[in-house]
Amino acid sequence: MSIKKSLDYFKELIPAIILLLLSIQSSLGQMQIGFDQSPLPYSYNALEDVIDARTMEIHYSKHAAAYCKNLKEAATAESVQPGTPLEDLLKGISKYSQKMRNNAGGHYNHEIFWKMMQSPKENNLPTGKLARAIEMRFGSFEECRVAFREAAKNRFGSGWAWLYVDNDKTLQIGSTPNQDNPLMDISEIKGYPILGLDVWEHAYYLKYQNKRADYAENWWKTVNWEYVSQRYESAMK
Ligand code: MN
Repeated sequence: MSIKKSLDYFKELIPAIILLLLSIQSSLGQMQIGFDQSPLPYSYNALEDVIDARTMEIHYSKHAAAYCKNLKEAATAESVQPGTPLEDLLKGISKYSQKMRNNAGGHYNHEIFWKMMQSPKENNLPTGKLARAIEMRFGSFEECRVAFREAAKNRFGSGWAWLYVDNDKTLQIGSTPNQDNPLMDISEIKGYPILGLDVWEHAYYLKYQNKRADYAENWWKTVNWEYVSQRYESAMK
């Protein structure tokens, strides 16, 4: 093929290439978490019987709103380039202040936590590729649940339990203190979080008081497996 013919051929492909790039951008956009607090994807009482409306209201409109506000303050004070993806910031969090670590983590963790839940259902199970990966890795979903429950129960003080994909693309279960998460370069466990449980007392105390294990057990009914699967598939790319 002559150079001119090759160029003509390439020109014909340009619209298709643009469409492809746009579709990649929009599929990335769905997983992207911004610096603003996004609207809760359901009403405060949507998780009732597992998480009460009062807890949801205080959690979303006070605690999570504060992480968001404080993250923006820290980003301004520490000259974070506008448009920096939050996940990139978390991957280099060791370069920033304690305030940034607490609030960038707090904001990200809550933004994904709301999306990871929906109205409670009995027999709420993972499906598709994620379900198969869980069986391969842990033996069964039940064993995965037990390991996750132990991670939630044994986290001393405040923090999060995680199901995450490590840097070798293997599913792992672990926990982090405070508002840390596996994306952070300072975290003991590293990878891409696909499912997380907030075990701060503010997340359950009104309904469960000291019974963190009951909260962690009931919570499985609310897991939005479709969103968790999307996060799994984007971690495996
Ligand atoms: Mn919280």
